Amino acid sequence: MPREKYRDHDENLRAKVDSYNLVENLETCLACGKCAGNCPVASLTPSYNPRQIISDVLNGNAERWLASEEIWRCFWCANCATVCPNDIHFPLLMMQLRYLATENKYGLKYLMPFRRFALRAREDGLTFGPSEKGREKIMRLRTNLGATPWPEISERAKAEYKELFDLTGATAYVEALSDEDEKPVDLRYTEGRITNE
Ligand code: SF4
Ligand code: SF4
Repeated sequence: MPREKYRDHDENLRAKVDSYNLVENLETCLACGKCAGNCPVASLTPSYNPRQIISDVLNGNAERWLASEEIWRCFWCANCATVCPNDIHFPLLMMQLRYLATENKYGLKYLMPFRRFALRAREDGLTFGPSEKGREKIMRLRTNLGATPWPEISERAKAEYKELFDLTGATAYVEALSDEDEKPVDLRYTEGRITNE
């Protein structure tokens, strides 16, 4: 069994991860494990453990999750947050962990497929549209219901959407996304240890 290593221990990690203090009560984690017990991903993949990830963030251990594929398993169902006795919003923490991981060139392969959807949303106010056949079907259904055949997005709404993308920095972030010098994510948590076996 490979030995656990803490090559990049960082005592300011918690502040770095949650720089906007979106999960201000993270320190109140009781390590009770209710989040893990209620997580559909953890039930299918025992190496995935939100309680363990929180513990690593609080203990300044970035290596264990930064280069790990574990943080890409969560699908933000928020089941963990609904059972947490201290109202810790783990999905918000996860969002920031992924952001930091991609800043460090990890996990980009999980993000790149969504790049074009994001750029299209900026232009059209929609991430994707139906095929011609699908569009006709939707129009028929809407007409039968007495609604307008197609919900056109106004030019004003599109302009506002575009402005929001640009003002928040989302446009620059998405446009700069590249997986050219991506680092591999092949580490798994295994009973509290890291292994790439
Ligand atoms: S349920 Fe809440 S308090 Fe318990 S381990 Fe998970 S995050 Fe911590
Ligand atoms: S939000 Fe993520 S960590 Fe929480 S229960 Fe859902 S899959 Fe698990």
